[in-house]
Amino acid sequence: MNDNWAPRTRAIVAGRPPAEAGPANTPIVPASALGLEYSREDGTATWAALEEAIGELEGGTATAFASGMGAVSAVLDLLPVGAVVAVPADSYAGTRGQFEHAERAGRLSLRKLAPEDTAAWTAAAEETGLLWLESPTNPSLESMDIAAIARAAAAQEQRPLVAVDNTFATPLGRQPLSQGADIVVHSATKLIGGHSDLLLGLTVTADAALAGRLRDARVRGGATPGALEAWLALRGLRTLPVRYAEASRTAALLAERLAGHPAVTRVRYPDAGVMIAFDLADANAADRVCANLHLVRHATSLGGVESSIERRAARPSDAHVPGGRLRFSVGLEDPDDLWRDLAQALDVT
Ligand SMILES: *Cc1c(COP(=O)(O)O)cnc(C)c1O
Repeated sequence: MNDNWAPRTRAIVAGRPPAEAGPANTPIVPASALGLEYSREDGTATWAALEEAIGELEGGTATAFASGMGAVSAVLDLLPVGAVVAVPADSYAGTRGQFEHAERAGRLSLRKLAPEDTAAWTAAAEETGLLWLESPTNPSLESMDIAAIARAAAAQEQRPLVAVDNTFATPLGRQPLSQGADIVVHSATKLIGGHSDLLLGLTVTADAALAGRLRDARVRGGATPGALEAWLALRGLRTLPVRYAEASRTAALLAERLAGHPAVTRVRYPDAGVMIAFDLADANAADRVCANLHLVRHATSLGGVESSIERRAARPSDAHVPGGRLRFSVGLEDPDDLWRDLAQALDVT
């Protein structure tokens, strides 16, 4: 791979068989046994192609899992019993739920910190075994200072692991390993796959020993990716740079228009990305907007080519989120079509 190539070029080239070797894409290998090798233990060419490509973009060794939560569980598996873990108070409900479950079972002790309170995170570096970062956070899109928190972690005698859930930023938006993180986690279910048609997760680390331990966690835990899913995720990755750039442009435009609408009390849109969080007066108003949208799908999940919206506070797992807040995933539809749909739904609230 040419080091001078831009990320969008590397997203096309990485994880491909050599041009002279035949197929343009590594085929789907639907096999458990490969001679004396066993796919759960040794992997397959389909998984390896995806892992090579994501590893190339993030700058480390990638391991693919059955889902984002499979990858989260593998990171949790690195910790000794009794470890102290810091997690953003606003973060993906599945991750928080997994950590809370482990705490109730007596396996770890949890600190929930405000994502943007960097001082609280750097202080936590002194007493934690794992700092779990998510930026921007799901669903409220708060931003974390990854570099400052990683620096604080590196300064400790007992160095905590720094893991970053990079699902929202994608490997195009940010490479946390270059900012000092030890491990990157992805739910490729979302933007990398990009078409709401698969579940898959990944870990990436530049530390060979950690990479081996994460791979061992997959062998032991068995959260292996499906052959079709791994193939689809790599197919999705090929267009991620253009999807991400285009949807980000639309999202920036819509965020600006939303901020100017009288029914919208607050908009959170980080500098880039396809996600917007915006607030209506209350839960009823937000529910009415969801019910009155025709083009934007009232549906869970995010990062697909189709725009979708959800009121996360409606779920018990996200009860901390303000009732009138909507999480909006911007897709690839025409920006003006999307705005007209939003505007008519907002006008009737
Ligand atoms: C969806 C999501 C996950 C979990 O991924 P799955 O593929 O659903 O298991 C983890 N982190 C974030 C930020 C997510 O949005």
